[in-house]
Amino acid sequence: MSVNEPWVEYFFVGVLQMRCSVVTDRETGDTVIIDGGGEPERLINWVDGFNGRGPDWSNGPQSIDEMEHQKIPPRKVVALLNTHAHFDHSGHIPDLLEHYPVQWYLHPDDTYLQTLASSSALRYGLQVPKPAVADIDFVAGEFLEVGALEFEILHTPGHTLGGCCLRLVVKDGPDHLFVGDTLFAGSVGRTDLPDTGGDFTVLARSIQTKLWPLAPDTVVYPGHGPLTTIGHEKATNPFVGDGAGSGVYSRGKYA
Ligand SMILES: [Zn+2]
Ligand SMILES: [Zn+2]
Repeated sequence: MSVNEPWVEYFFVGVLQMRCSVVTDRETGDTVIIDGGGEPERLINWVDGFNGRGPDWSNGPQSIDEMEHQKIPPRKVVALLNTHAHFDHSGHIPDLLEHYPVQWYLHPDDTYLQTLASSSALRYGLQVPKPAVADIDFVAGEFLEVGALEFEILHTPGHTLGGCCLRLVVKDGPDHLFVGDTLFAGSVGRTDLPDTGGDFTVLARSIQTKLWPLAPDTVVYPGHGPLTTIGHEKATNPFVGDGAGSGVYSRGKYA
């Protein structure tokens, strides 16, 4: 079921400043957390009661009072979704699962990568809990309904084997696309990380065949850095946009 005017928030969490997005249907309060990879307490406090340090940008109410005034029901987390299994995106999923009795979704091609979350984090001198195991596998191309929210699951390998872009289907405005580290404003995800299955040629093909056909006004939420749109990246992205050369680049940005 597509929704009207969803409330989409995000936090930059952890030392890699990874974007964790929180999507809420204003009618039912149904909420999904996308890439709950870090700072779980701050996230839980804010989702449950506006008590934590707030998000960096907002198109929603700023307090419980305002939420009641706008007649938005309390947020009810109905699922955790992940674009991919790098530890900055998935490392603290176990803490969220302890608090929210919901299911965690991931593409099965990232299952092996997910088992490495703790050792990958250690390379950055960080500790994360024992890696979670996904409850439900994404199916490439499916339209997934979680509560009142509907996402199209676009499998876009290249940064990781199981990387997916999640398109929130919106009735009355542009769709919102959560791309993880597949695409950035002016860049693309790294393809040189160990044990990941990164491949620039595969990444470029994923973006050009799965993302460029989407509506140009689709709002893109990358895993790091600023927001962008499909139309802007297709026109200007130096790695994969219409003007990009045919050369092969060894790496983009970010983990
Ligand atoms: Zn990342
Ligand atoms: Zn990544």
